[in-house]
Amino acid sequence: MSDISQNTHYRGRFAPSPSGQLHFGSLAAAVGSFLDARSRGGSWLLRMEDVDRPRCQSGAADDILRTLAAFGFEWDGPVLYQNTRDAAYAQALAQLHATGRVFPCACSRRELADSQLMRLAGDGAKVYPGTCRAGLPQGKTARAWRLRVDDAVIAFEDGVQGRIEQNLASEAGDFVLLRADGLFAYQLAVVVDDAEQGITHVVRGADLLDSTPRQILLQRLLALPVPAYVHLPVAVDARGEKLSKRSRAVPLNVEQPQPALRAALNFLGQAAPMELERVSLAELWRWAREHWNPARIPRQRSLSAPE
Ligand code: GLU
Repeated sequence: MSDISQNTHYRGRFAPSPSGQLHFGSLAAAVGSFLDARSRGGSWLLRMEDVDRPRCQSGAADDILRTLAAFGFEWDGPVLYQNTRDAAYAQALAQLHATGRVFPCACSRRELADSQLMRLAGDGAKVYPGTCRAGLPQGKTARAWRLRVDDAVIAFEDGVQGRIEQNLASEAGDFVLLRADGLFAYQLAVVVDDAEQGITHVVRGADLLDSTPRQILLQRLLALPVPAYVHLPVAVDARGEKLSKRSRAVPLNVEQPQPALRAALNFLGQAAPMELERVSLAELWRWAREHWNPARIPRQRSLSAPE
């Protein structure tokens, strides 16, 4: 396995899904990935993860870009939109097909949900029970295409969460690459695009920690470099639920970005001193870049968002 985090110019990224406006949780992920890159003289790229078209909200992508700009984020190069990338995903799928690991699956969501055989994966999703692994059942037609995983552990060293190990067969299961609605799955798109953008460091929310071993498997099978991973705590509400763009998470105030930026720094263990209370946005960013210390990021997978 190649590790491109060594001896390569740092290239980080922020990859929001335009399913709604930016909220505190996504701001914290943006701040963490941005500061980790900039404090090390690295590049920071943006990618609009609009591969899951039914979940995208019209106008959300532009709104996210405007909010990021109002908060003082500066990104390198053009924004990569996943809705322009189908040919690259199709090529990666063909490459995976050639390994003999891709198989058609006829199971509907309903059939899978009703299956008594299914165990729960680490992220709460059900582990595919292997129904179509050895061939489509008689008379059934392909709906989705899945990747056959091994009964083997994939391990990596996360920059915040430490060593992570996952047995793909028992904890994730054979996963979807091409969905029943004809759209490419997030797991495939993210791997192809991290490679396309030359990403060396992925800094994102810990809600994606359980997806990382699947992504590492895809990188290995596609002979792509494996970036370094850092999973930040995810902001949760009073009920312990992840803030999400589609839930009622409060949108960010673009007229007055400082308080939310300070709160995001605080959330990431990088509280700015009181005397910086009234400084300009640019000065706050300068302080944050100079004082960014990943060792202070809380190790929890989730943390309460500020009130
Ligand atoms: N698009 C994903 C999200 O908004 C992030 C994916 C990633 O960072 O790999 O949650």
